[in-house]
Amino acid sequence: MKFQTFKVCGLVFAFLIGSAFLGSSGSALASQKVPISFNDYHGYTGTVKYIKSVAKAYPNITKLIEIGKSNMGRPIYVLVISNMKTGTTIDTFVKLRNKRKEGVKNVPPMKPYQGKPGHWICGSTHGNEYTGTEVCLYTIDKLVSGYGSDKEVTRLVDGQTFYVCPVVNPDGLYNSIEKGISQRQNSMKKDDDGDGKVNEDGYDDLNGDGHITWFRYKDPKGRYVIDDVDPRLMVRLRRNAKTDKQLYSVIREDRDNDGDGERGEDSERGIDLNRNFPEGWWKTDGMAGGRGNYPTSAPEIHAIAEFFTNNTNILMAQNYHTSGGFTYRPMGTAPPNQLHPKDVAIFDMIMGKKYLEIIGEEVPEAWKAPGSLARFKEELEKKSKNKYAIARGYELPRGWRASYNEARDRRYGYGMASDWMYMQFGAYAITTELWNPQKDIKDFPQFTGPDARIEAQRALLKYQDEKYGGKLFIPWKKFEHPELGEGEIGGWIPKYRSNALPGEPLLNVCEKHWQFELFRAGLQPEIVITDAKARVLYTANKANSAVVSQKGDLVSIKKGKSKGKYKIVEVTAVIENKGKLATHVARGAQLAGNREDIVWLIGDRDKITHLQGTKFQKLGVIEGTQKIPGYTGRPGAGPAEQRRMQRMPRFIPPGYPMFFRMRGARLEPTQVKQTGPKREVRWLIAVEGNTPLKVVVTSQKGGTKVKNLLIQ
Ligand SMILES: [Zn+2]
Repeated sequence: MKFQTFKVCGLVFAFLIGSAFLGSSGSALASQKVPISFNDYHGYTGTVKYIKSVAKAYPNITKLIEIGKSNMGRPIYVLVISNMKTGTTIDTFVKLRNKRKEGVKNVPPMKPYQGKPGHWICGSTHGNEYTGTEVCLYTIDKLVSGYGSDKEVTRLVDGQTFYVCPVVNPDGLYNSIEKGISQRQNSMKKDDDGDGKVNEDGYDDLNGDGHITWFRYKDPKGRYVIDDVDPRLMVRLRRNAKTDKQLYSVIREDRDNDGDGERGEDSERGIDLNRNFPEGWWKTDGMAGGRGNYPTSAPEIHAIAEFFTNNTNILMAQNYHTSGGFTYRPMGTAPPNQLHPKDVAIFDMIMGKKYLEIIGEEVPEAWKAPGSLARFKEELEKKSKNKYAIARGYELPRGWRASYNEARDRRYGYGMASDWMYMQFGAYAITTELWNPQKDIKDFPQFTGPDARIEAQRALLKYQDEKYGGKLFIPWKKFEHPELGEGEIGGWIPKYRSNALPGEPLLNVCEKHWQFELFRAGLQPEIVITDAKARVLYTANKANSAVVSQKGDLVSIKKGKSKGKYKIVEVTAVIENKGKLATHVARGAQLAGNREDIVWLIGDRDKITHLQGTKFQKLGVIEGTQKIPGYTGRPGAGPAEQRRMQRMPRFIPPGYPMFFRMRGARLEPTQVKQTGPKREVRWLIAVEGNTPLKVVVTSQKGGTKVKNLLIQ
């Protein structure tokens, strides 16, 4: 009998699993209104077509914005994904002192989605690193087609805002994919060789096969030899290495188009956009270190800087690049001690740990036992020369690192995106270098040792033979170069050379990084008003206003006009951050342009007199619910605050009042001195007659919420 019951249960159980599976996959398909495939790269044209179709198919949860144009006039788009029917912003309730006006190009009125925590995801800042564009499109698909069927996705799209910018560098991507000319930089209409002609000598499809691949030719000064194992591969010799083999030079297909004796010296190539951001663009001696004439001189970077400035709700930011299969968290332009220790803990122990788990790499021992950091520091002091690692208690692992060279104490570059987004804007910004064949291709052989690199190249070429019918690699064929003579043209088609191979490998990369950003979205703060009440303490049927004046020591109170019926009302509200992280990075509220969280009591200002508690009260930065592992809460000024203090003018003219308040100046706002993830606030007001009241809590990165009050 028992056995029979069990059997029946088992059957029912199996049936439920089956139908649940069919149900979810069926509805997921039904809500995927714009089909997408990852069997080849979308390029600029395909990407624009896709995001326009998505914006059209999902008007309730998306909005397509053109944020600027490239040098060649191609639009740069951001697809905003958020429930467009929810959300509110503070300028709906409070007149801004510097009003945002419709028609003023740079400062449009705020949109409801700006009142939700924002998450920036972008790709193709380097035009030939478009794996990130594909991950952006995959992410868009997951968000829009998961909305309504996937519980977590629905929650995020309702409560947060995703800003997906699949192509930061339209011209670089267009040239790399549509034209087949690999281009990392943006494009510029610039006469590089000073001959009066613009962009007249770029790469050329010498043999007219529709691809710009490679030309190899015998050259006693060359640094390449043909691989012994797979003669299709060219092996670059190590520095000072000697060989008896025939030496080759390998160049892109190219000829001298303008007869000046040089090849490819005046192409469309402009500047490296990830060196044009305003953070760390200058050298310490004050000379230019980054690219471009000045920070944000490239229209593409200008557009992004402007977008961030107008969307102060962005707390998470991801900049996709290729390749390597690892993530850079800040900093790259400055030593790691510029990071606040709390942010280090959040970056490494929360985000980094998850990232390593997703990509399948070993998590550092110290991250598994953050309570024992002191011991790890001691141990590291004995064996490491890296002072930054010793201070932290661990070396950064391969998969989660900073680009700053800690061992040599040397910066990686100038004017980089994620440093700017973190340091000046206050976002948890990272740069992920996507694509590592050994991790992203299922059952790909693993190599170690001195020949690992060439062995991996051989394996990748073989994989291409088997899975893609050899179509991604052009066999070498004899070619007579107009200037260099005899040689051969062939090699990897550039667009497949250092990006995730289309199909299964690309899908693996997409899924892992979608999962990681989904995890990061789950860390966002979430401000809610959990309770708000307005209680009448006292009602007077006839009241008068009073005028107070002071002459010397004499204070006189004169009876004013009759006010009629009024009430003394106590308003209380409980505000909580139900999200995991605080509403700002550690130095967030100290950064220029950032502010602490605020709560307003809003009603008809002619009918309300504030007796206790100013009309807005400052709440500080509301902490999240997650304990930050490895962070002991050392208070004090972070590096940015110290920097800012240094920038303040040193000279104060004699007789200049140090503290003054202008006549009629407003009362200093009430500062709520509570910490943690919860604030309890109170106002005492006198209300004439009846007026509706609203409690509005507004956090730049934690969201804006409103609660209507009934005076009881
Ligand atoms: Zn890059």
